[in-house]
Amino acid sequence: MNISILGAGNEVTGSAFLVSNGKAKVLVDCGQFQGGRREENKNRIPKAMSPRELDAVVISHGHLDHIGRLPLLVMKGFSGPVYATPATIDVAKLILKDAAKVQESEAARINRKRMRAGEPLISPLFTDEDVDKTVRLFTPLDYDGPHPVAPGVQVQMMESGHVLGSAIINMDVEDGTRERKVVFSGDLGPLNLPILKDPARIDRADWVFMESTYGDRDHRPLDATLDEFNSLIREAVKRKGKILVPSFALGRTQQIVYHLAEAFHNRIVEPFPVYIDSPLAIAATEVYARHPDLYDSEMREFVLGNKLRDALKTVRFSQTADESKSINDVPGPCLILAGSGMCTAGWILHHLKHNLWRPETTVIFVGYQAPGTLGRLLIDGRPQVSVFGEKIAVNATIRSLGGFSAHAGQSDLVNWYACLAGSRPRTTLVHGEERGRKPLARIIKQRWNIDCDLPFTGETLSMN
Ligand SMILES: [Zn+2]
Ligand SMILES: [Zn+2]
Repeated sequence: MNISILGAGNEVTGSAFLVSNGKAKVLVDCGQFQGGRREENKNRIPKAMSPRELDAVVISHGHLDHIGRLPLLVMKGFSGPVYATPATIDVAKLILKDAAKVQESEAARINRKRMRAGEPLISPLFTDEDVDKTVRLFTPLDYDGPHPVAPGVQVQMMESGHVLGSAIINMDVEDGTRERKVVFSGDLGPLNLPILKDPARIDRADWVFMESTYGDRDHRPLDATLDEFNSLIREAVKRKGKILVPSFALGRTQQIVYHLAEAFHNRIVEPFPVYIDSPLAIAATEVYARHPDLYDSEMREFVLGNKLRDALKTVRFSQTADESKSINDVPGPCLILAGSGMCTAGWILHHLKHNLWRPETTVIFVGYQAPGTLGRLLIDGRPQVSVFGEKIAVNATIRSLGGFSAHAGQSDLVNWYACLAGSRPRTTLVHGEERGRKPLARIIKQRWNIDCDLPFTGETLSMN
């Protein structure tokens, strides 16, 4: 049996792993590389992915870095099934449609300039039409099984606690006369992520592919993060200011709304208006509402007793740009959740433009801000920034809260691995930069005397 790393080897994006057992070829994830032009240039279908010979694709979850090359695979001739949990299929449709929209409008913007300069035009990575062709191949696979997905390959999906529908892919592969159990961790959530169940524990594998995004550190505890979040909100409400929360539409927005509902329900903060200011976030929230079977016990109790609905009476939704702009005229206090999460585009920009200069405003960052983004400039304390080409003074309170990650930190990764370690699996660390996976490999070596593979993208590993 061979497994080729076709993305997310020594990086955290572009997930794609090709399993070949001589009888079948199954691709696990088909993700997009993200983060700057150099990464994005890697968004091609390598020959090794062999789109016309592939029997099936199995998807761990709906983030773009795990599904974003699927339309390219289909363009190159793949027409087999793409297996994923029903919730991941719902999520993936939203994410791919949105990505096509963003890419098409970005290409149109660049082409307007290129046309004026007499330069050759570019085409988007994929279009809405390409997404429609891809979506038709989705085939639901429930969290049970094992189910056959290709000759000699069976798959069991298990909760990974990272985002709605996310799964650990537990694969039984016929390898000559033997049967091998190969486990792909996908992205693992932290313990006690709100709304979702904790990652399933697995106690046996012959080979494990494990993510290592935060293999070098633990996140700040969620409790401490929530205390800070609540006190920031209380102060902002006192000042009657607006609270801007730049947030990813899927996962983070629902998590923040959940924490607000808890704070309102427990009277930590008196209810005040909350705006979900993003059609994508609204659609993603509807997907969460369609899959109550995936909630953890706290969330289920919160929903069943109508407590969630009662706590969220002050939540408003804006579907159109005009509705979003009309929030400008609403007096504070209110909280606005809008994209993009790093303030690189989207409706958050006009809220920043109209409110950053006001001292009563609070901006709360709840996710990672990459270097060079407006979000990072604000966290770094710039006294003035440019929004839509206009200079805006920064008089608002700016805070970045570190504890909201949807990824397991080092301790949670080690604890998850501890269940498997007794079966002494071959261990391959992926989906991590060197600074994440090397410390994790060191701990696994020290504690269990198991040497980990740290393959680079493009390598093929074999098991004899
Ligand atoms: Zn993910
Ligand atoms: Zn990922």
